[in-house]
Amino acid sequence: MIEEPARRVPVYGEYEAVILGGGPAGIAAAVAAARAGRRTLLIERYGFLGGMGTAAGVTNFCGLHANVHGQMHRLVQGVATELLSRIDRLGGLNAPHLVLGKIFAQAYDTAAYKIAADDLLGHHKVDILFHALGAGVVMQDDKRISALMVETKAGRLAVLANIFIDCSGDGDLAAWAGAPYEVGDDQGHLLYPSMMFRLNGVDRQKAGEAWRTIPALMEKAEAAGRHKFPRKAAIVRPQRHDAEWRVNFTQVARKDGAAVNGLAPDEMTRGEIDGRRQAIEAFEFLRTVPGFENSYIVDLPPQLGIRETRRVVGGCMLSGEDVLGCASFEDSIGVNGWPIEAHVTGDVIFKFPPIPESRGYNELPYRMLVPEGVDNLLIAGRCASMTHEGQSAARVSGACFAMGEAAGTAAALALSGNTTPRDIAVEKLQQGLKAQGAFIGRDQPVPVGI
Ligand SMILES: Cc1cc2nc3c(=O)[nH]c(=O)nc-3n(C[C@H](O)[C@H](O)[C@H](O)COP(=O)(O)OP(=O)(O)OC[C@H]3O[C@@H](n4cnc5c(N)ncnc54)[C@H](O)[C@@H]3O)c2cc1C
Repeated sequence: MIEEPARRVPVYGEYEAVILGGGPAGIAAAVAAARAGRRTLLIERYGFLGGMGTAAGVTNFCGLHANVHGQMHRLVQGVATELLSRIDRLGGLNAPHLVLGKIFAQAYDTAAYKIAADDLLGHHKVDILFHALGAGVVMQDDKRISALMVETKAGRLAVLANIFIDCSGDGDLAAWAGAPYEVGDDQGHLLYPSMMFRLNGVDRQKAGEAWRTIPALMEKAEAAGRHKFPRKAAIVRPQRHDAEWRVNFTQVARKDGAAVNGLAPDEMTRGEIDGRRQAIEAFEFLRTVPGFENSYIVDLPPQLGIRETRRVVGGCMLSGEDVLGCASFEDSIGVNGWPIEAHVTGDVIFKFPPIPESRGYNELPYRMLVPEGVDNLLIAGRCASMTHEGQSAARVSGACFAMGEAAGTAAALALSGNTTPRDIAVEKLQQGLKAQGAFIGRDQPVPVGI
């Protein structure tokens, strides 16, 4: 260890709401806070928005829909609708497609997502600071954050705010501020990361519904000793343009077989390299699949896709039982219709609520967004208060948009009432969300259409 000398740090700005992280949760939180008239800054380490959705090449929205008694409905609305319509106007949105015969997902183009998100935040007058890595906090006392410290090419800067919203996916800000958090399941096992990639040059006619035939071809190739795959349940699907397909095929582990931990730089370094190696191996196999003979890798994303790191502990932790039992909460602020999707060793295990018997979605309690121990902080997205199993479902984009919108709206309410997020009137938050076009469950009629 070495001692770092104390230093004076310039103040970049003073805001009412500061959001760390520009993924689906951060985008929605920033729009909601700014739209409510609050001086809002979003800080992002990359030069673009979208989080894992763009930085890790996810290219597919899950959790926007639910299978309600056998009928598909688009339940996540509000800010998500504003973003999707912009992506669509840029020609970057697919029609929803059926996954496992039970639920919808919706593919998008990453370039369109980035541009649409810039436009959305600009429209709502959110200030953005790109290329700034959140690096620590200065506390006013045990329970209040006074400044978020960021590292930039211009040196270290301090950002002051009344309320902070941690949408870093990793719970960075919450952890620095001293909020409690968990990592992994009972034994510390995390969901495995994946290196996504996209192919171009696929012959769509010849490839047909290759996602149905690829699992059997994988088994055959393994049995013949031609290939060895890190996991079953490969996802290979067409994007907006027929020749372009996304490939979710890899599973990145440490030498001991455990999932690479997104909080450990050494593990991430090896994970990035191993992820790319796995991508090339997957590509070599895919070139043997009819329709893929002339395909090529058009994109390897900027980073390894991280599904789970810290989950911050709040007033309620959404659990796997809540997801499977389609739980209701009096303080609901949105819904999740995505099943449990557990990326375990060598496989991906899906667990759905009973379909069509159940309504197919659980509500998301406001208490998930309010961390223990810190008064001027909210958390939204994949680092919100959920158990390992609950997070395996509600970490997907749809629920992250819903949580983000609720967190931004709650921050604005707390600011206008001069109170803490923990003490706002939840009914007022719920009314505000509904008025903005969000679906929060409860007694609201289920939105019709996809
Ligand atoms: C391989 C893979 C495949 C997936 N497939 C799907 C899918 O098909 N559909 C789906 O809906 N979801 C999918 N997911 C899940 C989904 O993409 C994420 O869970 C979701 O993006 C989480 O949103 P978020 O806003 O909470 O966090 P993130 O998307 O992780 O965004 C966090 C943002 O914060 C920034 N950030 C983090 N730390 C700092 C810091 N210290 N300083 C500054 N900026 C910081 C990051 O750069 C990032 O932009 C997948 C995830 C992975 C990894």
